[in-house]
Amino acid sequence: MEEAKLPLFLAGFAVFFIVETLAAKRPWQEPRGERLRTHAAMAVFNTVVLKLLVLAPFLAWSDYVFKQGWGLAPVLGYSGIGGIVATVIVLDMLDYWWHRFNHRFGFLWRFHKVHHVDTHVDVTTALRFHPGELFISFFVKLGWIALWGPSLLGFAVFEICVSLASQFHHSNIDLPDRWERLLRHFLVTPRFHASHHTVSRRTGDANFATIFIVWDRLFGTYREPDPEEMKDLGLPEGRDDYLSFTTWLKEPFGQRNQQQAYREE
Ligand SMILES: [Zn+2]
Repeated sequence: MEEAKLPLFLAGFAVFFIVETLAAKRPWQEPRGERLRTHAAMAVFNTVVLKLLVLAPFLAWSDYVFKQGWGLAPVLGYSGIGGIVATVIVLDMLDYWWHRFNHRFGFLWRFHKVHHVDTHVDVTTALRFHPGELFISFFVKLGWIALWGPSLLGFAVFEICVSLASQFHHSNIDLPDRWERLLRHFLVTPRFHASHHTVSRRTGDANFATIFIVWDRLFGTYREPDPEEMKDLGLPEGRDDYLSFTTWLKEPFGQRNQQQAYREE
């Protein structure tokens, strides 16, 4: 399954890139080539750095946990297809909380805001992450593996689902209202996720789910997307230089941190 990740990722990217070319919801503000170049450079940089640093320890840790029989999944007797489905659901819930913490704690927000500063959300936004965020989340995921004890296959399926869901809900498309209503019973839609990218923190600090929308409903962070708020995407800062890769690589360590992480009541 590990070998299927890159082809599936590229295929998903191509599909959503074509779909948003044919049926863009928001007018294109920047040359799309420039967006693609910057965000693809970030993705290639992140993939190379992360693969070099963390792939070997990740595989060794997963193998060790599996051999020791750690985690809830083996205790509950999950295996086969049921085990894979349970892994995707449970890890998606942990991912929801991890995303919520990224907005809640200032230190994590410094990295996560590099994703949010993009003023024009489209499928390339799914490539836009600070390597520091991915590096920190690598250690968090080691914890998830020890807690849940997924098989390597289950974890790979989860990662593929996250990639495809992220490409889908970042796409610059909007489903007809009927489909939107239907799909939003189960999944995070492009309209719902675009509302997480608003300058307005009402929905920007809500609507955190990645694959299954149920977590926002269950844990009280579901906010109805507002068409007015969704006219303004990104953050108050960085609106002129968000496409400079080097500026945003340094951003978490710089002084410009006007936008504080939010506080939950
Ligand atoms: Zn976010």
